[in-house]
Amino acid sequence: MFIVGLTGGIGSGKTAASDWFAAQGITVVDADVVAREVVMVGQPALLEIAETFGHWVLQPDGTLDRAALRQHVFLHPQDRQKLEKITHARIHVAMAQQLQAATSPYVILVSPLLLESGKAGLSSLCQRILVVDVPEEVQRIRAGARDGQTLESIDRIMAVQIARTDRLAQADDVAVNDGELTHLYQQLRVLHAQYLEMSRDH
Ligand code: ATP
Repeated sequence: MFIVGLTGGIGSGKTAASDWFAAQGITVVDADVVAREVVMVGQPALLEIAETFGHWVLQPDGTLDRAALRQHVFLHPQDRQKLEKITHARIHVAMAQQLQAATSPYVILVSPLLLESGKAGLSSLCQRILVVDVPEEVQRIRAGARDGQTLESIDRIMAVQIARTDRLAQADDVAVNDGELTHLYQQLRVLHAQYLEMSRDH
């Protein structure tokens, strides 16, 4: 299987790019989506989280109160480890299943954390790393306009994400998303042709 890892900072355009690949019929596995799927109602991980932390982590409709849990693990770092122990392996298994089930010539694996944990992390699954890159000022403007988040909270997220220069240093391919979306799509079209060719030879 030929896996292209797609990453970029908050608000860089990962979703815009992965939506374009999906529209070409390429299977997209999104690590953030999988992370939400494994804690959906009826999933064993949700039960285990409620048993470990208490039923306050559940909303009245039984779904996970993600904001409350996020706040809790922010204040209690040891509990973050407990949470990761419950979710990480399940996320990896679910991701591996989705990658295995892919039928397109290559697969896009999207994650903002693709390059975290170095070679031991998700990037080890990938034959190729594609970074969507924008200047930090554009990240702030787009992420702020999308989520209505304050600049402070966007800056906090950017501060814990891998630095732009480090991310670019690990990229095999870079798509610059500082202009119109059509400009991004033009670059993706060229990369798509290359990935089809590479996956044929793989
Ligand atoms: P996150 O990691 O925060 O989920 P992301 O990298 O997936 O972000 P997107 O959601 O694709 O980024 O883009 C961030 C916001 O910027 C969205 O509202 C999107 O519609 C917008 N956007 C993306 N690319 C462009 C562009 N070239 N021109 C204008 N707006 C854009």
